Amino acid sequence: MKKSIYPPGSTVGVMGGGQLGRMFTLVARRMGYRIHSFSPDADSPAGQVADVEIAAPYEDEAAVSAFAKGVDVLTFEFENIPARTIEWCAAICETRPSGSVLHITQNRLREKEFLAGAGLPIAPFKAVGTAEDLAEAIRKIGAPAVLKSTAFGYDGKGQHALFHGDDPTRVWGATLGSQAVLEKFVPFVKELSVIVARGADGSVAAYPVCQNIHRNHILDVTIVPAGIDESVRRTAREIALTVAEKLELVGLMAVEMFLLEKGDILINELAPRPHNSGHFSFDACITSQFEQQLRAVCGLTLGSTDLLRPAAMANLLGDLWEGREPNWTAALESPMVKLHLYGKTAPRKGRKMGHLLAFGDTAAEAEETVRRARGRLSPAGTASRSSLFSPR
Ligand code: AMP
Repeated sequence: MKKSIYPPGSTVGVMGGGQLGRMFTLVARRMGYRIHSFSPDADSPAGQVADVEIAAPYEDEAAVSAFAKGVDVLTFEFENIPARTIEWCAAICETRPSGSVLHITQNRLREKEFLAGAGLPIAPFKAVGTAEDLAEAIRKIGAPAVLKSTAFGYDGKGQHALFHGDDPTRVWGATLGSQAVLEKFVPFVKELSVIVARGADGSVAAYPVCQNIHRNHILDVTIVPAGIDESVRRTAREIALTVAEKLELVGLMAVEMFLLEKGDILINELAPRPHNSGHFSFDACITSQFEQQLRAVCGLTLGSTDLLRPAAMANLLGDLWEGREPNWTAALESPMVKLHLYGKTAPRKGRKMGHLLAFGDTAAEAEETVRRARGRLSPAGTASRSSLFSPR
């Protein structure tokens, strides 16, 4: 039976088996919840620490329905779940966030149309379905621009930079060839994100604004609090809360943003779940983003988002392994450094295997400590700044 409050002792289902589900599960179990995990893979990072792990395809209606029947409330750690799967779940148990939030955020075009319709600031964009559309979009938007596939886009996947003079027919043929969005290149000075939560009663909470540094389009380092003016901080927070309210979100969401030179902010993208840039909150906030997702989804009062100390997070990608185990002991030489590993056995290039978190008296000190700790893992651990348009 659907209720609105699910207290400790209830069973929560998590769709998706990655590290976000793993950290959610660890926190939820600590609070006395039972966690059932559903993902296509056995021995998944989340499944390893759940009470029950179901490994079946999202398209398997019988398995999905049996899973939904076994839980009190269901949530997601991954938004690219087929719409039909979400419908099967929602027909059986409370599903938070709702299918409509997932429907919007799993497609870049729908997401941008929603944000534009809500009067929220985003870069100029145009839908592209053919080479002719692309030529027209370039005429309207101008170059440089970024061509992005509408579905399954994250970590810069399915993206292509377009410059003055590029031939639209050649670019279209050589890259995506499916539904896409052309978006104007944004000459940002910083990338920011805000994690927000919204309860079923409409209560909201926002985490401190993070500054994110990407490397090869993948988040590399997050620094909190971001080094920005108070007015920018207020605007970023307001934008994130407005997105959550307009979406009528019940759950947790990351709002990624670009900060422009004069202090304007544009939204880059949304993720209706815990986010890599919110990992700092696991160690550095009164309530982690994972506990907050649980509290929002289970109808509990949202927890305090206060930051305990300035912090910085550095991702650990599979590239660090280079045929041998990284030097964990060396990375942990600093008493201010925490290690998180996600239980993944195959360290592939670009695969998120874990992260380090460091504290400091200032965000800059925390950043320096976390970069130094990662550098001690292997020579390849030294990070540099880059963006979609920087030379590779
Ligand atoms: P996304 O998967 O859309 O978050 O893009 C990954 C990264 O590519 C972003 O974090 C930015 O660093 C860069 N990027 C994406 N869109 C743009 C844009 N319109 N202008 C400049 N850089 C972009």
